[in-house]
Amino acid sequence: MLKRQIYMDHHATTPTDPRVVEAMAPFFTEHFGNAASRQHAFGWAARDAVETARTQVATLVGCDPRELYFTSGATESNNLAIKGCLAAVDGARRRIVTLETEHRAVLDPCLRLEDAGVRVDYVTPGPDGRVDPLEVDRVVTDGTALVSVMTANNEIGVLQPVGELASVAHRQGALLHTDATQAVGKVPFSARDVDVDLVSLSAHKIYGPKGVGALCVRRRRPKIPLVPLIDGGGHERGLRSGTLNVPAIVGFGHAAELCGREMVDEASRTSALRDRLWQRLSDRLNGLRLNGSVEHRLPNNLNMSVSGVEGETLLVGLDDVAVSSGAACTSVNAGPSHVLLALGLSAQLARASLRFGLGRWNTEAEVDYVVDKVCRLVTRLRDVSPG
Ligand SMILES: *Cc1c(COP(=O)(O)O)cnc(C)c1O
Repeated sequence: MLKRQIYMDHHATTPTDPRVVEAMAPFFTEHFGNAASRQHAFGWAARDAVETARTQVATLVGCDPRELYFTSGATESNNLAIKGCLAAVDGARRRIVTLETEHRAVLDPCLRLEDAGVRVDYVTPGPDGRVDPLEVDRVVTDGTALVSVMTANNEIGVLQPVGELASVAHRQGALLHTDATQAVGKVPFSARDVDVDLVSLSAHKIYGPKGVGALCVRRRRPKIPLVPLIDGGGHERGLRSGTLNVPAIVGFGHAAELCGREMVDEASRTSALRDRLWQRLSDRLNGLRLNGSVEHRLPNNLNMSVSGVEGETLLVGLDDVAVSSGAACTSVNAGPSHVLLALGLSAQLARASLRFGLGRWNTEAEVDYVVDKVCRLVTRLRDVSPG
């Protein structure tokens, strides 16, 4: 029998809210139409549902529904924003500016473009994980096509000054793309207010289903140029072909609406749990280091390093608590977290780090259980380690 697991890894994914599942269900069965079928009621019902969802998601992101394009998730949205932009801009702009602490779904498309001769400048954030807009300003030139900076980091929860960075980019005629996957639905965000050009998001980080996301492309004059990654049929106004995943899109819309309604309460609840977790851990254990800005941070994130233990042994000991460690940021990447290394941590300390992501259904009792478990584990590991 698998022991009951406590889930505190909500930056990796979230469970689909049962209310979202309920909203999706009829679109697998009764309303199974193809949203591109223009000639009968099955198609119209699907299309109406997609347009309702588009409005729901656009409302959460603070953009016009006509600015929102559905994709398979934030990885695709980031690829479309970055590769699509560089393929479309004129030849004089062959540069990208981004951060060392971006998600792989931004860094890997940048690496791919570097192979094709695009110059990418990687800016290092400060020791608290926040980038100084002046540091970005120093590398953005009139040859820069795109500045890509995430709104909230998926490991350390740090919020970037995206609005200021948009001004920096715009002064040189460059576009600002932000991967807002972790921020949207957790903290107030408005594409309109921060005046960014491209925004990536994903449903499964906001209690929606996996495999659906969106790219917001602001309506500007002149039009923001993007070359599609996928051609065939001209869906999503030619920017992303392929039959729309109607049930998932409906779920995305419903999840967005719930976040909009419940975000304020949820943020105060998860931040109270997060603060309780950190307070109790740091009261009982010495040698803990909080990674990332305290002030500019997602309400549900805690990332800490534990001195005097081996990173690999931490997760093994936390057998019934689902959290992430800094030992391997993704299953395909074995090195210590590139985010923690960019903050200046040693590889040893980066590996001995834990990321907690609190979520909609975590309780105080779970937090207290986890505190106890981590304290006993760390004490035991330090007792046996020669250091
Ligand atoms: C989860 C995540 C992604 C990837 O999103 P998918 O929808 O799973 O492709 C991209 N960026 C950030 C910041 C994330 O947290």
